[in-house]
Amino acid sequence: MTPVFRFAPSPNGYLHLGHALSALLNADRAKAADGRLLLRIEDIDETRCRPEYEAAIYEDLAWLGLEWEQPVRRQSEHYGEYRAALARLDALSLIYPSFESRAEIAAQVAERDHQGKWPRDPDGAPLYPGAAKSMLPAERARRMDAGEPYALRLDMAAALTHAGPLTWAVNGEGPAGETGLVKAGPTAWGDVILARKETSTSYHLAVVVDDASQGVTDVVRGCDLFHATSVHRLLQALLGLPQPSYHHHRLILDSDGRKLSKSTQATGLWELRAQGATAADIRMIVGLD
Ligand code: GLU
Repeated sequence: MTPVFRFAPSPNGYLHLGHALSALLNADRAKAADGRLLLRIEDIDETRCRPEYEAAIYEDLAWLGLEWEQPVRRQSEHYGEYRAALARLDALSLIYPSFESRAEIAAQVAERDHQGKWPRDPDGAPLYPGAAKSMLPAERARRMDAGEPYALRLDMAAALTHAGPLTWAVNGEGPAGETGLVKAGPTAWGDVILARKETSTSYHLAVVVDDASQGVTDVVRGCDLFHATSVHRLLQALLGLPQPSYHHHRLILDSDGRKLSKSTQATGLWELRAQGATAADIRMIVGLD
């Protein structure tokens, strides 16, 4: 079977050195394994994604020497597939709508924090503390019919019962020296949001559906997504999708030890290019070769 790799940036800013490392590692590994390299544009956040950022992605990657297959998959062209996946989870009674605003949820968390610290997910965000899971079906239907905004959440407890214990495969070595199979721990994320009224998918759902649709066998991405893999593995199990193997690479940090952000001009690829850097310089700066 030909290995299939993918680089999956979001066009919500210009690419920086962290993206260069990820893209180059994908390209290097695909080449070494005689595999295919796909590019996927993760543009579901339509308020932040812009066509000029997408155009810059193609330019920057070509400048880095990457070659990827056509056509490029753009998530915004596949909402039907995400809706179908949600319908499957709904048929298994594994999702439910919650209607609280962000401010209402923050107030509930503050109250719980008062009684003892309320748990946070691996990214540091509080778990969903609400009670929407036990809302009566008639009340749910009434509020949805009335056009109220809502988030569709995974019922984590029910999902775990349905899927049973899971592991996912590390390709090479994980950020803390993990090898072989890692135990999935999706409970740490609580009842994650899988879609909203206005967007029929979230990152977690889209990435799982896309990797399966595109036949991705090898995911190579930053170690900031290491823990999210537990949610991805759970969704694959619930949706009956194949599981790729995962390699989570080191991140490139700024001089203060923080993750690079898309607004950090000094590390933007197009700025470096404008200053006369070459693709070989970028490889060296990110620690390849
Ligand atoms: N779109 C994500 C990002 O730009 C990457 C998702 C993934 O590789 O799974 O951080």
